[in-house]
Amino acid sequence: MQKVSEDDLEQAKKYFEKYLEEKNVIENLRARLDNLLQKDCSDSVRKDIDYIKSNLQNIIDADLEQMKKYNNKLKNITDILRKKTKAEKRNKDEQAVYKLSEIFNDFYEAFSKTKKYPYKIIKFLHLKCCPYCNISYTYTVIDNDNNEFLIRPNLDHYFSKSLYPYLSLTFNNLIPVCSFCNSSLKGSKEFLPVHPYFESLDNFMKFGISISNIHNLYKDEDAFDIEIDANPEAEEHIENFKLQERYQYHKDIVNELLIKKKCYCPEYVENLIKFFNENGIQVNSSYVDLLITGNYTSSENINKRPLAKLNKDIWELISK
Ligand SMILES: [Zn+2]
Repeated sequence: MQKVSEDDLEQAKKYFEKYLEEKNVIENLRARLDNLLQKDCSDSVRKDIDYIKSNLQNIIDADLEQMKKYNNKLKNITDILRKKTKAEKRNKDEQAVYKLSEIFNDFYEAFSKTKKYPYKIIKFLHLKCCPYCNISYTYTVIDNDNNEFLIRPNLDHYFSKSLYPYLSLTFNNLIPVCSFCNSSLKGSKEFLPVHPYFESLDNFMKFGISISNIHNLYKDEDAFDIEIDANPEAEEHIENFKLQERYQYHKDIVNELLIKKKCYCPEYVENLIKFFNENGIQVNSSYVDLLITGNYTSSENINKRPLAKLNKDIWELISK
């Protein structure tokens, strides 16, 4: 939900480039595309394949705006794939475009199968929880002693592999996310989430509460609902990842925050800080907030723990 740090992105990208170099990916891809250009197809499809071949390095390096530009330029390819023509009914252009898709898919699968590279690249990003929802953990575990790659989050293709195959190996098109967001909710749907390498969802939305029964506020979770106030940039994201619906399952957290805010009055917090300091533990008020709420309360720490964005927004709201 918080933008990934520039340093982490740079480290991850460097490691991805190491993979490309070690496996000679650009050259091998070019050779397969050269081969494809020998096949019979119309001039317009040939031109597109040739364009991809000539711009391979730039396509792999593309940022979000550049990816969008390539998608505009190569719209014909996506239009053909969107028709989902069955294999036995494909004309020459469709056959060539599906072959293009297959080639990129082969290279992506080869990358995925190395295990070492996707695992380590994701690890460099330090995303302990899903950047799309901030609900699930998405850490990566590698057993270095036994060289075993144990668990990692899904890699979402921001622009889907099935419609934009030429972006299959574009670093900025690969985002580690939880399986609810990736497989269950995004799937092959065509919408653009807030991109965690370029934008911060934290800037585009805020959690709040709507109270329906003030008398039961501290006793009953049904006395309020979690609400999301969103900028236009985040509306599609929230709708497609069902954040409104999913966050209702975390009303217990909000309920606890309301109770804690009521009980931990400013004098108590002041005493708490004094008590820590007297015992040799130097704490500031934001650390005490972390201890009281059980989660982070500042923007820069949202990616460190699930539900930190909810915790931060509600704590801010009730601390006003
Ligand atoms: Zn998620």
